[in-house]
Amino acid sequence: MKGVFPLDKFKGIETPFYYYDTDLLRHTLQIINAEAGKYEGFCVHYAVKANANPKLLNVICQAGLGADCVSGGEIQAALTAGFQPSKIVFAGVGKSDKEIELGLDKGIFCFNVESVPELEVINQLAYRKKTVANVAFRINPDVGAHTHANITTGLAENKFGIAMGDMEDVIAKAAAMDNVKFVGLHFHIGSQILDMGDFVALCNRINDLQNMLEAHKIMVENINVGGGLGIDYTHPNRVPVPDFKSYFATYARHLKLRKGQKLHFELGRSVVGQCGTLVTRVLYVKQGAVKQFVIVDAGMTDLIRPALYQAYHKIENLSSGGPLKTYDVVGPICESSDVFAKAIDLDECHRGDILAIRSAGAYGEIMASQYNCRPLPKGYIFEEMQ
Ligand SMILES: *Cc1c(COP(=O)(O)O)cnc(C)c1O
Repeated sequence: MKGVFPLDKFKGIETPFYYYDTDLLRHTLQIINAEAGKYEGFCVHYAVKANANPKLLNVICQAGLGADCVSGGEIQAALTAGFQPSKIVFAGVGKSDKEIELGLDKGIFCFNVESVPELEVINQLAYRKKTVANVAFRINPDVGAHTHANITTGLAENKFGIAMGDMEDVIAKAAAMDNVKFVGLHFHIGSQILDMGDFVALCNRINDLQNMLEAHKIMVENINVGGGLGIDYTHPNRVPVPDFKSYFATYARHLKLRKGQKLHFELGRSVVGQCGTLVTRVLYVKQGAVKQFVIVDAGMTDLIRPALYQAYHKIENLSSGGPLKTYDVVGPICESSDVFAKAIDLDECHRGDILAIRSAGAYGEIMASQYNCRPLPKGYIFEEMQ
């Protein structure tokens, strides 16, 4: 089964480019709101780093989600798209003074703090601006996720977060400072997680930590469990929307929320992953010594995930009806890792055919580079052109 695309509209556009299906995005957001809305205190944010395309941000903002940002640039992008400062949180291990000042000036909801030196700098900068910054501590829960090593973030060996053993000490330090206010705990164990057991492990860890804090009379207003829900890269047509029902139900069942406590989620990939497609054209079909190569005009500069994480993206030939042939699909960049897929079956390819590289809405366009002096790919949404 192939996806349904507005091929006639693709014809006049220079390839490669990203195509975004905003109907699917809106449908996905509806399901997120319906499933999270079943539980009291659940608040969903969008992790802007997955895709900061202004039009997508605008659709997501209109659906009522908050914004999770990891840089000053993302805070600006979120504000421009219409997100209220009170719905913006700012995470990241290396926030610069300038970025912190931007957050303070705009009055964002919260800084997710990842170290004591960072806490001290935020306190100092807030003092200079005669303000008080809300802070949450990102705790490294030492919980593994069954995903690619490069996208695991919650292990003791990872650079992210504050060690569990230091948590109470850091909370005490914040309490002694005048220009920061402790408002919550933050976690994020990794990305592309499909095993709900990984989230259960996080819930159990948070329950333990909360019990410990409660014993010391420390109450936490907000718990933020990050993002990480995966998408089905193998079946983008059959499973266009991730299993948000199980995801939110897992947290509702396993995380023991206290009265009035808010539970925040920061979903990136699962919101936008399936709505994006990298559209590319076949330049050459080449018979190598042992393999047949389809050389396309998109490369790792447009979509780096296969080269960076050995990620799988389903590829469909939208111009041909077969017969099936086996190809390596490669880009034009001067790097051996510039390969989209090896030994896959595609409807027979000819020069000029349009291929769809699916499930590319997250960590695609936003990670594009200009290596080899290539132009950045553009992102298209057709609804406003109709
Ligand atoms: C990347 C990131 C997310 C989003 O992760 P997804 O796997 O795309 O859902 C959420 N929170 C933090 C802190 C992140 O760094």
